[in-house]
Amino acid sequence: MVECAEDGCEDEAVVEVHVPWADDRRVCTGHARVIARQDGVVADPLDGYEGEWP
Ligand SMILES: [Zn+2]
Repeated sequence: MVECAEDGCEDEAVVEVHVPWADDRRVCTGHARVIARQDGVVADPLDGYEGEWP
């Protein structure tokens, strides 16, 4: 599995977030929700995890 890219988080990464002001990274659903709330961020589920992200 891929681990969430956020510091101190060991959850499974299921979403790739594309952040205009930072590098793309793979994060868990919890972090993806927080990050995707910001303007301009696009969040895509990773292959095989389409059911994990609306
Ligand atoms: Zn996380």
